[in-house]
Amino acid sequence: MSLDVLAIGSHPDDVEIACGGTLALLARRGRSVGILHLTCGEAGTRGTVEERRREAEAAAAALGATELGILDLGDGGLRTGREEEEQLIERLRHWRPALVIGPAPRDRHPDHGRAHRLVADACFYAGLARRGSGTPHRPAAIFHYMQHDPFEPSFIVDVTSAWAAKLEALAAYESQLHQPGAERPEPPTKVASPEYRAAIEGRARHFGLLINAAYGEPFGSRLPLAVSDPLELVPGGLS
Ligand SMILES: [Zn+2]
Repeated sequence: MSLDVLAIGSHPDDVEIACGGTLALLARRGRSVGILHLTCGEAGTRGTVEERRREAEAAAAALGATELGILDLGDGGLRTGREEEEQLIERLRHWRPALVIGPAPRDRHPDHGRAHRLVADACFYAGLARRGSGTPHRPAAIFHYMQHDPFEPSFIVDVTSAWAAKLEALAAYESQLHQPGAERPEPPTKVASPEYRAAIEGRARHFGLLINAAYGEPFGSRLPLAVSDPLELVPGGLS
């Protein structure tokens, strides 16, 4: 087993909201894509663990992800100790992703920042031959996606061609997200509000505009990115 990309989120729906378009784009280009939710989402105001698992499965299928994992590291107080590192290392050594996409270093929900540290640490430790069991594997790169808090992106992916698949994944999360045409959900929460749903599109429109695309998803990288040909960064290349 060797995945091209593994997207990791704190809660079911984090990955789909933040980078679902990019995952769908990669899957449609023949890349192997996996999704790992670190918690079952049991602390959410709405939706049972069983509902959220079914929603996660439908969303992964909509994006074209072939692997889906859900760990139980504690929604609302994500645990990041040695035992949790071991669970993540086991998944990384099993799926052996070239690229890991995870949460940003800081965000409104404390679980997101905790997950960033856990993912970064586990990706490094998974490459140590003398840490735990299994064949060592260290992903070649880790990028982070944008959730609530904005940051200056290192790059933006044009997800226009995969936007419909992203909407399909968001539609799978009936218990979590406002669905177009539906009543305003009770009890009201920020994530389930029509405004939040509109903001997902608004953010994609905003970042798309910066790269002359209809929809874009922003990403950060701790390290500078290498390019073999700077003209690959120029829209249209040589002209
Ligand atoms: Zn979350």
